Amino acid sequence: MADQPHQVLLPLEDTRPTAPRQTIGGSSVSYTPARSILTESTGFMDGYDYTLNPYSGCTFGCSYCYAAFFVRDKAQQDTWGQWVRVKDNALELLQRWRKKPLHGKTIYMSSVTDPYQPLERDLLLTRSLLEELANYHKPRLVIQTRSQLVVRDLDLLQRFGSVQVNMTVTTDDEAVRKAFEPHCSSIPARLKAIADIQAAGVATCITMTPLLPVADATSFAERLLATGVEKFVVQPFHPERGKFVAGTRDEALALCRERGWTAARYREVLAVLRQQLPQLAEGKDGFAPI
Ligand code: SF4
Repeated sequence: MADQPHQVLLPLEDTRPTAPRQTIGGSSVSYTPARSILTESTGFMDGYDYTLNPYSGCTFGCSYCYAAFFVRDKAQQDTWGQWVRVKDNALELLQRWRKKPLHGKTIYMSSVTDPYQPLERDLLLTRSLLEELANYHKPRLVIQTRSQLVVRDLDLLQRFGSVQVNMTVTTDDEAVRKAFEPHCSSIPARLKAIADIQAAGVATCITMTPLLPVADATSFAERLLATGVEKFVVQPFHPERGKFVAGTRDEALALCRERGWTAARYREVLAVLRQQLPQLAEGKDGFAPI
């Protein structure tokens, strides 16, 4: 008797649709349609035509994040980092722009969220938007992230004529990084990611925004240069509790005090960085479109 063809029996769970996740790392996830996906840029980002934020909220939850103050709801401001809203019609909204292609337009992704926050690993929402932009628009795009996950999308980034990845690296000290940005990629992981992107021929920039306490400015500059990146941006961190830093954690502020992170110390570190790093821009100038 001839062999019967094998019938592959998949485990039951593989045949069921996956339910959208409701939490990630203890933070809540919700799914809501947005009214628009591209926002005309104003304020700090007014050099760009549009900002693009695939998510509202950010579960990286950096303690100094100013984006919290763009949320209208006070409870959501107070719980910044503990929730994320997925714009679940983001791709559909972007597809409508095929009628009015964005070629040559400048887009900054993202201004009030991180497009590569943990949820993106499973959801691939940012990736779907990049694919749409690469296929139908090829705008001048700047991607801003604190995540090594951006490397996953190198294949798409290489299809843009004009794209730059900005990797934020705020300190050389993992203890400081963990106090201010506990859920973001480690410093070595971010440096490795941006080095890989640079090596793959995609334009890069390292943004030290804000610059947090630095242990050794000279070796920090050497580590940054070892990535092969040639563009850098720096901005000071204001440790006072104020409108844009209200959420900064007490342990983070204590680290600033312990490490003597004063305006004078910032200027000392800045002097070293200015000497060692080519193309070091300061503040808003560093974020000009490519
Ligand atoms: S990664 Fe960016 S948007 Fe997210 S919490 Fe940190 S500073 Fe805010």
